[in-house]
Amino acid sequence: MVVQKFGGSSVEDAGKIREVAKIALEHRIDGRIAIVLSAMKGCTDLLLGAAKDAEAGKPAYKDALAILEKRHLTAAEELTTGPAHTTLKAALTEQLSDLRDILHGVELVKECSKRSLDLIAGFGERLNCQLMAGYLKGAGHEAHYIDASQNFIITNDNHGAADVDFEATYKTVDSRIKPLKGVIVITGFVASTADGRPTTLGRNGSDYTASLVGAAIRADAVEIWKDVDGVLTADPRFVKGTLVLDEISMEEAMELSYFGAKVIHPSTMLPLLERGINLKIKNTLNPAVKGTLIKQNPKPHPYPITGLASITAAALINIEGSGMIGIPGFASRVFGALARVKVNVIMISQASSEHSICIVVRDSEAQTALKALRDELKAEHQAKKLKDCELILGLEIVAVIGENMRGKPGITGKLFSSLGEKNVNVLAIAQGSSERNISFVIESKDREVALNTIHSAFLGNGGLK
Ligand code: ADP
Ligand code: ASP
Ligand code: MG
Repeated sequence: MVVQKFGGSSVEDAGKIREVAKIALEHRIDGRIAIVLSAMKGCTDLLLGAAKDAEAGKPAYKDALAILEKRHLTAAEELTTGPAHTTLKAALTEQLSDLRDILHGVELVKECSKRSLDLIAGFGERLNCQLMAGYLKGAGHEAHYIDASQNFIITNDNHGAADVDFEATYKTVDSRIKPLKGVIVITGFVASTADGRPTTLGRNGSDYTASLVGAAIRADAVEIWKDVDGVLTADPRFVKGTLVLDEISMEEAMELSYFGAKVIHPSTMLPLLERGINLKIKNTLNPAVKGTLIKQNPKPHPYPITGLASITAAALINIEGSGMIGIPGFASRVFGALARVKVNVIMISQASSEHSICIVVRDSEAQTALKALRDELKAEHQAKKLKDCELILGLEIVAVIGENMRGKPGITGKLFSSLGEKNVNVLAIAQGSSERNISFVIESKDREVALNTIHSAFLGNGGLK
């Protein structure tokens, strides 16, 4: 069986839902297919905004409710008639009424816990999947709706971006799907703890749901359908002349997504890699296009690099001084202090003189990180062995990725000389020992120049001026 996932832009209205259903039906194997759907485009943002408004006692949350109601009920009207419509409308109305009650409760208590927020955030997926299942049934197909927050994808209670219990999830998902035939419609993004409290997998987490389902049932393939022709060499919103990649490795896809390539959620690859299942990225708007195949040992391509990605809103913290030279355990103190306050380190760079370590974190976590490091290193600072930690905000991490860079001299030289020619100032550099990734930090204002310059130097610019 194949697992297909369709994102918000692929299922934004009745017309698109029809297209998606057609694609899913065409790809059934022995009459079966599992599809994972996101919320309609913009609905998760609307739900999160409504929760915030309700918490603040602002009646504006009712406007969001009205928009959600209109979008889903209009689509139901366009997609179904007769008894199928009556059943679907009743199911959607019940969901919307639950949502209204929950938001009203939030308004009354003026408090929205992370747990309540996870419950509210998942309504977009639940409404959309019921719509799809209702449409398929109305059109005479066998279809089943599965709400993944009802004992299906099992996680811990780290609300907002919960960690998956793989063993429990694989067991439950496999046994639930095994007896079903036809089109199995599964909500992306949402999950629950073992004792049934609602959680979510983090923003854009539906890709991850699809890979978990695929791994659980040992699917023949997992396909993620987007609004682009596949994985491109760079983000097409900022870079001119991007190319569609034919095949890339699981590791390259992991690195690209970890460093901000929004096309795939970064956790998606791991379950598939472990179970040897290939991942395909396809275009819902253009199903005939081959797309990108992500697998172990992909066919080599002729380019020196595979692609580039970047993370915005990064901050750099520089620790400098003689106090760390030759002292074993210094780095572990630094990372221990950051781990205790749950700050995620995106990039590290240490000069071989051991005179400075620079750490890159997200802007939003910079102050927490700075405080934790100042507390940890107070004694060294007072003894004048270390300078005060320096914080620079408003930065961008750029990552250049590719298996072909391995063991090839000259890539780094060409990379930084091309940036130098455009006066892009590089604040820190790190290269993974896998030689599959070179990442560096620049000022955010230089992002577009840097990305286009590198793309042009290694992959061309599609003949654009
Ligand atoms: P969905 O919500 O349908 O899952 P997203 O909008 O989250 O899809 O992701 C698809 C978008 O990711 C594309 O429209 C494109 O703008 C962006 N993107 C960023 N980097 C890349 C890349 N390297 N290749 C393809 N698309 C990319
Ligand atoms: N609907 C969720 C979001 O907008 C999950 C997803 O789209 O994958 O983040
Ligand atoms: Mg998305």
